[in-house]
Amino acid sequence: MRYLILSDIHSNWEALEAVLAAARGLYERIICLGDLVGYGADPNPVVDWVRANIPVVIRGNHDKACSGVDSLEWFNEAAREAAMWTLTRLTPDNLKYLNALPKGPWESDGMTLVHGSILDEDEYVVSPRDASQVFPYLDARLTFFGHTHIQGGFVLVEGELQIVRPQPAKGPQYLELVNHEKYLLNPGSVGQPRDGDWRSAFLLYDSNLQRIIFHRIEYDLPTAQGKIRAAGLPVHLASRLGVGR
Ligand code: ZN
Repeated sequence: MRYLILSDIHSNWEALEAVLAAARGLYERIICLGDLVGYGADPNPVVDWVRANIPVVIRGNHDKACSGVDSLEWFNEAAREAAMWTLTRLTPDNLKYLNALPKGPWESDGMTLVHGSILDEDEYVVSPRDASQVFPYLDARLTFFGHTHIQGGFVLVEGELQIVRPQPAKGPQYLELVNHEKYLLNPGSVGQPRDGDWRSAFLLYDSNLQRIIFHRIEYDLPTAQGKIRAAGLPVHLASRLGVGR
C-alpha cells in the first residue's frame, strides 16, 4: 500500500491543492495527522475536502481550539485571533466534524499516528532530547507525528538516536526503512512550514517497498497570503508563510 501522509494543513487551500496535484497517482490512501484549521483563511474548503477524502484523521491542538474542545489559553495572540475567527466561520457540519475528531495515538495498518507525541497530543518533539524521551514508549516500528511543522524526524539505530533531516533543495529525499530500526517521522506542514523552506511539505510511504519519500512543492503563495490579509487575520500570518517560519 502507498500512503500519502499529511499534517498541519492549517486552512491553506492553495497549499493543499498543490500537494494533491503533485502526489496524484502516487498513493492509494491518505492519512492526516491533524491541524486542519487555524492560521489560514480557508477553513471550510479544507475541512470539506478532508471530510470527503481522508478516512483516517486525528485531531490537532488547533482543531480542538477552533471547535471549542479546548480553551485558547495556550495560544499566542495571532493563533488565538485566528482560532476565534475560524470558530465563527466554520459551517455547523464542519464544526461538528472537527469537534468529534479522534485523539491520537491512533494505530492504523501497523503504524502509530500522533499529532504531537505518544505521551501527550499537544507536546512538541523538536530536539533529539525530546525524541529520546518518547522512543521508549513507541511499540510500533513506524510512528508518524506532526505539530512542529518541521519535516524529518528521528531514527533509533541499535539504541542510538539519529536525526532525519531531508535536504529539500536536492529534490525528493528517499529513506529506506530497515527492519531492526525504529522511526519517528514528520511529513512537515502542508500549510505553514516552519523549517525555513516556504514550500509545502508532505511524505509518501510505500509499505511494500518499505520506503519513505519526503517531498517539497511550491504552491500559489501570493493567493494564500492575499486571502489572509483580505480576511482581516493578523498580517504576520501572511508574511511568515513567505519565509517558512
Ligand atoms: Zn500545527
